[in-house]
Amino acid sequence: MQPARSQRRAIPAVDRLLQALGETGLPRPLVVATVRRQLARLRAARTVPPVEEIEGLIRRELEDLRASALQPVINATGIVIHTNLGRAPLGPDAVALLGSIAAHYNNLEIDLATGERGARAGYVETLLGAICGAEAATVVNNCAAALVLALRHFTAGPRKEVVISRGELVQIGGGFRIPDVLESSGARLREVGTTNRTTLADYARAIGRETALLLRVHRSNFFMDGFVASPTTAELAGLARQKRVRFVEDLGSGAAVATEQLGLEHEPTPAESLRAGADLVCFSGDKLFGGPQAGIIAGRARLVSALKREPFFRALRCDKLVLGALQATAEAWLRQSERERAAGPHPVRVMELLQLDVAALQARAERLRAGLAEAAVEVTIGAGRGEVGGGTLPRARLASVTLALKPRCMVAAELAARLRRGTPPVIGYLAGGRLKLDLRTVFPEQDPALFAAIGRALGDAQAD
Ligand SMILES: *Cc1c(COP(=O)(O)O)cnc(C)c1O
Repeated sequence: MQPARSQRRAIPAVDRLLQALGETGLPRPLVVATVRRQLARLRAARTVPPVEEIEGLIRRELEDLRASALQPVINATGIVIHTNLGRAPLGPDAVALLGSIAAHYNNLEIDLATGERGARAGYVETLLGAICGAEAATVVNNCAAALVLALRHFTAGPRKEVVISRGELVQIGGGFRIPDVLESSGARLREVGTTNRTTLADYARAIGRETALLLRVHRSNFFMDGFVASPTTAELAGLARQKRVRFVEDLGSGAAVATEQLGLEHEPTPAESLRAGADLVCFSGDKLFGGPQAGIIAGRARLVSALKREPFFRALRCDKLVLGALQATAEAWLRQSERERAAGPHPVRVMELLQLDVAALQARAERLRAGLAEAAVEVTIGAGRGEVGGGTLPRARLASVTLALKPRCMVAAELAARLRRGTPPVIGYLAGGRLKLDLRTVFPEQDPALFAAIGRALGDAQAD
């Protein structure tokens, strides 16, 4: 039903609302569209609320829109590789190179020695090959793309079957399921073994004339314990060689270092997988590797060049910004091994965060608590249980330090919402009626901003 004529007259004009809204921080066409949409809704409604209420509704909608813009946030979850918060923050070298590549022309596809057209990504491929101890390496958009590319390539001929253990038909993240990826690439799935146990004999029995490759998918985001068994990478590689089929390993996170050094359990490295005989490995650029979103493929030179010749490769290739950030990250990894730095943070930011000293976190927590002594909040310092995140080392818990906030004039959930909607947004988590802020993932230089954000969120409440 339409509102009555007098009601309709009460609907304010677009211009009047625009004027009342003032500067919103959003491009004007978006503001106009939002106002029009809201007014159209009112025209269809039975009653028209007062102008101030309409203005309030629109303001709220614009704020939500503004908040949805990509922007830096303070990660106080303690989860180092947080997929919803953009996974790996880049280290200083990567940020610097990214900025200068972005702002200038560059030698993306020119050989500066000859002046001829050059190979894209040649140098970063060389770096990645060195890190992985591989004959060759290349890079695509993400690890999922790397997997699809490899599967499409190896199942393009008459052999369509991919042999994989039932224990590895996993879901990686939001809707990314290994069996779906396999089938969308035109491969036929040949499941072997059971959820908890797959033996070398299971694989051997399944390999036949139709088999294109053996695929192993690292169980990165969950773990199995108890009555479990699976062959080693070396055993699978031996079997693949004997039966003359390819063997590809999807490592997911692909640690460039032995994670034991960080007091964590062992995460397979690309180098050890290739040493054990895998033909190709793939892993993400933005998990433990600490770079931009990318999928790194490493292994035998002949296979890597064959993948690069696939027409589909063109649709998956990375742009100059990603290649720049990845190059700087890869250089940081290689330099790290030579520089025996006892002091100073690791140049790969993810590693720096994983290696933070709990005593330093404790000192920062004390300082923040002292600063908040006068604020309308009860602050306790507790032990955090940070996580590596990003579907990596799901069992690992990183000792950490949290500030637990119990505001006096609102519930903790309200404080959490205010911090989340602030500038910069701060993301913590609720536990036991308190808002917890884990300092492991808050960069030390963000402490003043965190402190100010808490003050503002509490202060807003007092003003209400
Ligand atoms: C995370 C993960 C992927 C997906 O990686 P993206 O780079 O996000 O595409 C694939 N396989 C495994 C085993 C993973 O852990």
